[in-house]
Amino acid sequence: MPHIDIDPEKCGYCGGCVIVCHDDAIDLLEVTLTISDACTLCNACIVFCPVGALEMADD
Ligand code: SF4
Ligand code: SF4
Repeated sequence: MPHIDIDPEKCGYCGGCVIVCHDDAIDLLEVTLTISDACTLCNACIVFCPVGALEMADD
């Protein structure tokens, strides 16, 4: 099933993707980033992330 993958090695937990997401699907708690079922795969967070920590995956 398509979803957004987070690379914890790259993510700097800047919180930018949380703000960019129009569906309020991303939560940031200290150094844990989670993406919920509210995600509509709009791609905005992937485009925004300055360090390329997010990508579309299908498994
Ligand atoms: S925008 Fe990128 S670096 Fe910032 S919290 Fe999101 S995934 Fe991490
Ligand atoms: S792909 Fe779009 S809806 Fe899904 S988490 Fe990223 S910004 Fe939010």
